[in-house]
Amino acid sequence: MYRIAIGEISHETNTFCPPTTLEMFRQRVWCKGSALLKQFRGTRTYLGGMIESAERLGVELVPTFAASAEPWGTITREAYDAMVRELLEGLRGAMPLDAICLGLHGAGVAEGIDDLESAVLEAVRGAVGARVPIAATLDLHGNIAPRMAELARGLFGVHEYPHVDAYERGQEAMAFLLRVLRGEIQPAMAVEVLPLLIPASPSRLEPASSINDVCHRWEREPGMIDCAFMHGFSQTDIPEMGVAVIAVAEHDRSLAQRAARAVAREIWTRREEFQKTFPAPADAVAEAKRLADSGGPVVINEISDNPGGGAPGDGTHLLRAMLDAGLTDSAFGTLYDPGAADAAHKAGVGATIKVRVGGKFDRMHGDPLDLEVYVKCLTDGRFRLSTAMGRGQEVDLGKMARLVCRGVDIVVASGRTQVLDPQPFVLHGIDVSRCRVVGLKSSAHFRAGFDGIVKHIVGTDPPGLSTSTLKNFPYRRVRRPIYPLDRGATYRGTPA
Ligand SMILES: [Zn+2]
Repeated sequence: MYRIAIGEISHETNTFCPPTTLEMFRQRVWCKGSALLKQFRGTRTYLGGMIESAERLGVELVPTFAASAEPWGTITREAYDAMVRELLEGLRGAMPLDAICLGLHGAGVAEGIDDLESAVLEAVRGAVGARVPIAATLDLHGNIAPRMAELARGLFGVHEYPHVDAYERGQEAMAFLLRVLRGEIQPAMAVEVLPLLIPASPSRLEPASSINDVCHRWEREPGMIDCAFMHGFSQTDIPEMGVAVIAVAEHDRSLAQRAARAVAREIWTRREEFQKTFPAPADAVAEAKRLADSGGPVVINEISDNPGGGAPGDGTHLLRAMLDAGLTDSAFGTLYDPGAADAAHKAGVGATIKVRVGGKFDRMHGDPLDLEVYVKCLTDGRFRLSTAMGRGQEVDLGKMARLVCRGVDIVVASGRTQVLDPQPFVLHGIDVSRCRVVGLKSSAHFRAGFDGIVKHIVGTDPPGLSTSTLKNFPYRRVRRPIYPLDRGATYRGTPA
């Protein structure tokens, strides 16, 4: 029986935000040993997939340590050191090990460490030696340095955005390690990096959809294992950021290189199609109203204030436009505002209160709204995710409240998060399938939970820290030239 350790250190770092602290990880995911199995077994997550696969394939599973936090700024050195210490302690205590399977993100940045994932892999290598095979799952928003492919035997990025296949990638990484251990494969990887930044690009929409088709065609070639289009994370201002392709072959490095380059060439050809523009909030609301007249619900997603991309989640651009539009039977959520949630809890259900809502992080995301609201419902903010992306995972947003104001039911929360599915609304008695217009903060992940419910989706992209308008970011460190910051950037492919 093979002995395989699992663990996770995962963060999507938006370097334009204030620092991500140790406390932020401890509040979100921070668990050791058997607690890791308890938290992730049966959930549709990377670790959930690894656990299922290991238990089904008869692996002796050794849980070590898992930590993640909501996307935010550069990770403090204290937090980084604490996470690596915990992971290495877990691994050292579990040795001898046959293999290691890690959940990484790819877009992690810590103080003094641009490439968190390579640093973590190097630290793990230092602890377990050069021979123990390591596989890792990745978020497709990872910025991938070729160095990672030297430190790990296999890297498995999700193919879908929303990331509905995290569980399957976890299973795949574990099954891959078993094939390596049994000597069935001697895997070879290729990483092809493009001089390209793209904004949030859902994989069911063009052009990402047909790029994925090309990846899947390569995966069906004999001798190939995996081929992943890594979108990169454009809010991480480091030299090695942007789009990349990772290809994993059973034995043949040149096959992996051919696949990675062919997909990269296709992405480069389609580069202009990724750059999209969206209506301003007032125009998006007018469009949603018009669409709702012939049958709702219509979702308006506020791309630029997505906590899942490092934005504060308390921006008021879209909410203000919805309140000004004279909507009826509509909802908005979730707005991060612990103060407003607390005021509602103090006043109690049935009270009408004057409260200042949102706009507390900065002015860029919109001014605070001074509202008179009716407190319809109060909750503890605890629920479980319900869609293929993360189903079963517990969420705790602290005190929450449903506040009714001018035809819009506003769901406020004490925790920052993007809306992944209708559960934050369900928790407060709101049936989104019966709403005319639903405003929410998310770039694309909400699609996994709303696609079957809503009739139309309208995006809006006012100023914010997760905007799709990349030229608005004050980039300093990204390598240049890079498209679309430099329209004349060229890509010829890595020479063979
Ligand atoms: Zn992602």
